Order: sequence, then structure tokens, then C-alpha cells
Amino acid sequence: LAATAQLARAHLVNALIDSLVDAVGPDHVLTDPEVRAGFETDWSGRWSGTAAAVVRPADSTQVKSVLAACDEHGASIVPQGGNTGLVGGSVPRPGGQQVILTTARLTELGEPDPATGQVCAGAGVTLAALQTRAREHGWDAGLDLGARDSATVGGIVACDAGGTRAIRYGTARARVGGIEAVLADGTRVSRMNGLLKDNAGLSLEALLVGSEGILGVITEVLWRLVPSPGELTAALVPLSSVPAAVELTARLRESVRTLEALELMTATAMDLSLAYLGASSPAEKAPLYALIECEADDDSLAALSSVLQDAGTADRASVAVDAAGRERLRRIREAIPEAIASRGLSRKYDIGVPAARLSEFVATLDGLVDTYAPGSLLLYFGHLGDGNLHVSVLGAEPDNELIDNAIFSWVAECEGTISAEHGVGFHKARYLSLVRSSAELQAMWAIKRALDPHLILNPGAVLEVE
Ligand SMILES: Cc1cc2nc3c(=O)[nH]c(=O)nc-3n(C[C@H](O)[C@H](O)[C@H](O)COP(=O)(O)OP(=O)(O)OC[C@H]3O[C@@H](n4cnc5c(N)ncnc54)[C@H](O)[C@@H]3O)c2cc1C
Repeated sequence: LAATAQLARAHLVNALIDSLVDAVGPDHVLTDPEVRAGFETDWSGRWSGTAAAVVRPADSTQVKSVLAACDEHGASIVPQGGNTGLVGGSVPRPGGQQVILTTARLTELGEPDPATGQVCAGAGVTLAALQTRAREHGWDAGLDLGARDSATVGGIVACDAGGTRAIRYGTARARVGGIEAVLADGTRVSRMNGLLKDNAGLSLEALLVGSEGILGVITEVLWRLVPSPGELTAALVPLSSVPAAVELTARLRESVRTLEALELMTATAMDLSLAYLGASSPAEKAPLYALIECEADDDSLAALSSVLQDAGTADRASVAVDAAGRERLRRIREAIPEAIASRGLSRKYDIGVPAARLSEFVATLDGLVDTYAPGSLLLYFGHLGDGNLHVSVLGAEPDNELIDNAIFSWVAECEGTISAEHGVGFHKARYLSLVRSSAELQAMWAIKRALDPHLILNPGAVLEVE
């Protein structure tokens, strides 16, 4: 019986592969386990699964054919961009028959429209390519994150990614002027007219932003650029405590109009990064550091200096006005995820907490880690200006879910979110009910079932499969 079932399964897989080959051509259906491997494990190394195949459609018509083939053969699809997501949403789940649909060939990138400041980008265009194109034309992408060389426009929009500059320009949602996507039944939906004001009916684009591949495959995005900021200045500021950091945030927001970034790192996180980079510390010892960036115009510099004077940190700040100096400071913060990854697997929590409760939230973290993951190392860093911290626990047992539960429950108690910018993915689907009511979850399921009745798009991501 087992042999018969195995034969039947092999037959099904073969039929699926034949249909996928019909859809995208033999060169773009990857079945060799060695070739597939790079697509089957995410950047962090923590999440992985086996795919029946990896397919590389060239355009939205081929995306449509891939979805039809999968639907016909009862396979599900995991859309994948740069595979830099950190929550297990971009790789297959254990069990089931899944096909990875990579957007690696959807890389058409238009010229920015000077009248509207918008540019049309294929879902597979990397953030770095978009940033370069924007700068060539005197604009700026208005979004930045450390994974810029691999993370794609489609993945960024699908996660509603934030990054270091959300404090000024908002998250990816604010950058979306239009979307083209293919839904589970192969229907193509597209609103790419670039109108700033267009409230005719429900906004499918709004629904697709942050949908993490569970409602449709995004194939193209009309990206809203921002005017290029002037020269920037950066300051690394030692801080005594989280309440001091929260106070500094309020003062900077109030006074510095051109605040481009406001990042936080603990001394442990900074030391790890410095060791990884082989660099020495540019600042005196402190428990915490804020990295501030703003435009280098007279008003901004005067406002920044006055805030730092009032906070008593002006003399201790390490300030960089030239590009190389700014890059050096920025790199310390940006290299933290790489430094953590170089130490092996870690547990990661991308949480957001209202400013009023941030100090209370952090004060309890040490105790939670001591209790539920004794012997491991806690560090945090992130986007202070947005109340978004990346908490990492290094050295916890790989199957220790007690610490996940403890941290997410505490976030919920602090009226925060278990997912600020990385998405829910597979990792956090089971915890979503901590921060979303059953009415909200029911509404999400109603939308999911209406757009993807056979549940073929990224099953198990965001919404836990019942
Ligand atoms: C070093 C490092 C730094 C990072 N810094 C930040 C940061 O500052 N801010 C931040 O927000 N994130 C950050 N991230 C996380 C990650 O880069 C973002 O989540 C990014 O948006 C993922 O883009 P991607 O193209 O790699 O998507 P993937 O990882 O390939 O996919 C992510 C999710 O989107 C879905 N998806 C991808 N493409 C599509 C598509 N075309 N249509 C529909 N669904 C799709 C996938 O199914 C998956 O659920 C960082 C990651 C790393 C490794």
C-alpha cells in the first residue's frame, strides 16, 4: 500500500512539473535539490522546507499560468522575492506539496515620471536597484533597510516593510501608488493610473499591501518616490536608560523637522556588531546608544544641537557630517543582524510598543529570558522613533517555544504588536490571536476564502490553517 501511495504521489508531482514546464518553459522549473536549496531556506537559516519545484515566471501571464497549474494539481504556492524575510513566510512549510514562485525575473524598471515622482517597478526589482534609479533622476526611494541588495519591491510591499526611514516617509504602504497582482484564480487586478486621489470603490491595493503572499502574487508596483533629502548629518549618542531614549525621541520629533532616522541599540548589540566588523567603538561606554540622522541644514543642526544640549549628551555625541563618517556610524547599526547570524541561530522578535509603555516593556525582558531561556543572551536594537524593537535571544534551544509565548504575551499586555515590520509569516501565525480579536480574525479569514477559496496561496502564513 505504501509503495502504491508513493507511486501515486510521484505521478502527481510529475504531472504538476509537466504543467509548470508548459507555463514557464523547462529552463525555469528548477527541481534539482541542490539548485532548489538556496530558495528553500530563508536568510536567517531558521526556516526551511522542501518544495516540489521552484518556478521563475517572466511576466504576469506566466504567473497566471503557474497559479492555474498549481490549482489544477492541488499544489500550493509560496511567493518569494529576495528571501530576506525573517518569519518563515517565504519558504515552504513542512508537509504538503508546495511550489516556490520566485519573482527573480520580474525585474523591469521604468523611468521615474518627473510630473508625479512615480516609477513602475516589477515585483522582482531589488530595493537597491530602485534606490539607484531614483537617485539618478534626483529623487529618493523614501525607504531603506539593510537587506536592500536582495529584498525586492514585491516582498517589501507584501510585508509592508518599514526600515530606518519610516520615521520620515512612513512604511512601504505610503510608497505604493498602484499595484498589479494575480489572484489565486488567475484573475489579474491592476490599478496603475498613478492618481493620488482615487477612492472609487474598495482599495484592493490597500488589501494587498502587507498580505504576505496569502491573497495574490504582486507582479508590479507603481512606487511613489520622495524628493531627495539634502546632505545628512549623523550622531551616535550614548544614553543612560530606555526612559532617556523615549524622552529624547519626543524632543527630537518635536524639534527636528528633517529627522531621517532614529535608531537604538544596546551596548551588547553594538559590541557584537563592532566585533563582527573588527571596528573600535566611536563612542564612550553606555548601556544604550541612539543613532540619529537628519538633514544638515542650519535649522536642523541648530535644533539637533539644542535637543542634545538639553539632554546633557551634546559633549558625548559622536557626530559625522561627511559621507564616510556617516557610513561608518550607520554600518555599526546595520551590521547587527549579520553579526547575530554569524553566531548561529537565534530567536527574533520584531515587536512594536507604544512609546508610553516602552520602558516598562524593556524592563521586564531580562526576567522573561532568565525564566524561559536561561543561559541565553538577550539583546535588542531597532527603530526607536517608531517604537519598533528587534529583540534577539541568542543560544536558546531551537524548539523552545516558551520564550516566544512569554515575549509575545508580554507585548500584547503592553498594547503592542507582535509584528511591526517583518510580517507574521509562519512563525507568528499561531500568536496572532494575542493581538487581533476573533472578530478581526474572522474578517481576515472571510477575505482569504473569498480571494483564495482553495487556500493555495502561502497556506499557514499569517493565518494559522485550522
Ligand atoms: C539584514 C536584514 C535587515 C532587514 N531590515 C529590515 C528593516 O529594517 N525593516 C523591515 O521591514 N524588514 C527588514 N528585513 C526583513 C526583510 O528584508 C523584509 O521583510 C523585506 O520586505 C523582504 O523582502 P523580500 O523580497 O526578501 O521578500 P521575501 O523574503 O522573499 O518574502 C517575504 C514575504 O512576502 C511574500 N512575497 C514576496 N514577494 C511577493 C510578491 N511579489 N507577491 C506577493 N507576496 C510576496 C512572501 O511570500 C513572504 O511571505 C531585514 C532583513 C535582513 C536579512
